[in-house]
Amino acid sequence: MSFDAVIIGAGISGLTCANYLQRHQKSYIIVDADKRIGGRIKTDTVNGFKLDHGFQVLQTGYPEARRTLDYKALNLMKFPAGVAVRSNGKFHMIADPRYHFRHLYSTISSPIGTFKDRLLMLRLARTVSSCPFAELFSQPEEKTIDFLSHYGFSEGFINRFFVPFFAGACLDREITASSRVLKYIFRVFAEGDAALPALGMAEIPRQLATNLPEDCVRLQSRVEKIDNDGVLLASGEKIQADAVVIATSAPAERQLLGIEQEGGSVGESCLYFTGEWLPPFNEPFLILNGEGTGPINNIAFPSLVAPEYATDGRTLIAVVVLGDEYCKNPELQKLVRDQCRKWFGGAVDDWEHLHTYEINHALPLQEPPTQDPYRQPALVSGNTYRCGEIGTLPGTQWALLAGRLTAETMLRG
Ligand SMILES: Cc1cc2nc3c(=O)[nH]c(=O)nc-3n(C[C@H](O)[C@H](O)[C@H](O)COP(=O)(O)OP(=O)(O)OC[C@H]3O[C@@H](n4cnc5c(N)ncnc54)[C@H](O)[C@@H]3O)c2cc1C
Repeated sequence: MSFDAVIIGAGISGLTCANYLQRHQKSYIIVDADKRIGGRIKTDTVNGFKLDHGFQVLQTGYPEARRTLDYKALNLMKFPAGVAVRSNGKFHMIADPRYHFRHLYSTISSPIGTFKDRLLMLRLARTVSSCPFAELFSQPEEKTIDFLSHYGFSEGFINRFFVPFFAGACLDREITASSRVLKYIFRVFAEGDAALPALGMAEIPRQLATNLPEDCVRLQSRVEKIDNDGVLLASGEKIQADAVVIATSAPAERQLLGIEQEGGSVGESCLYFTGEWLPPFNEPFLILNGEGTGPINNIAFPSLVAPEYATDGRTLIAVVVLGDEYCKNPELQKLVRDQCRKWFGGAVDDWEHLHTYEINHALPLQEPPTQDPYRQPALVSGNTYRCGEIGTLPGTQWALLAGRLTAETMLRG
């Protein structure tokens, strides 16, 4: 049997591409090396707790997610619009006063930034909101760390707020990602919420697979080689197809195409704990480490946002650690507990460790020059297309967009 297309990868980009081919009655098969769908978006159930493979959220402001996903069916649970920054031995709330009026005073008076920093934040938010979304990616770019100081933000505010905030999104504490990425992230934060599907992030790929026939995905099927007329699996089996779509991460795509040049990857370690415990403030704000020391970049409490992430009235705590210095440290759990104890006190000793995910490639580095994701080159050569993260920007929004744009290119022939 020969297919119109074989899609390598059952992550959200491959599944999206398949949805468009399905709507146009094309024959296709998705092959994935893993034993379940979802790629980088998976959820395990451990002792009744839902553990996403690394802490990540769906930003409801992603335009392509709004277009592709059924938010209502995902039963999205939203994080409060604000963060708690740990600095100088205290937590300081920085909340959006439109939703958290009672934090207005602490937001305005917090020592995290100067009055000028607050005005610049408003100016940046206004500028990015008034620019058409797609145009953000043709604007001049520089490293975010340089852009912020050229924009006039104080060094203290950059270090205490922007570094942990933007590192939480781009997973790079040097914040060398392009200023285009910063502006885009600012924009989606202003236009939507950070949210979790009630039953875990894996509900996203699961939803994308709902309209596809069950037998269109072959799991535990690693592609070894791409040919003119299909792909060769590691098992030796050949799958014949007129077109091949690479819907993998950047390192996997390089391997498939025999590209030796290394692209930088960033990852994270995510430590999950549980306890009969509540954070020392009323809303389950994301905590940012504004101290600039220790392993922790940010902490989230998924079960206080989406109760089904936990069981027995306990709290699920997700601690995100960035950088090899800490992620590869055999003492990491102890170092994290020590820092948490300083922040939250002795209750931390009763936290039970559930699992640690060490993820080497979560995203590619996003340093300038970046590509315009709306002009991603879908055709690699001959019969081979791509909708992975090479040639575009990485992340959920762009994986969904790449899946659609690649399918549209193929359908145009
Ligand atoms: C910890 C973490 C945090 C993140 N945080 C965010 C965030 O906050 N916001 C955001 O927008 N994005 C975030 N991301 C990124 C986002 O999850 C990814 O960009 C997106 O899931 C990529 O989807 P994809 O389908 O392009 O690739 P993948 O999900 O990587 O799917 C590729 C699939 O291809 C398969 N595959 C690879 N090679 C082969 C082969 N040779 N043969 C067969 N199959 C193969 C893999 O098994 C995999 O299932 C995060 C990712 C991680 C891991």
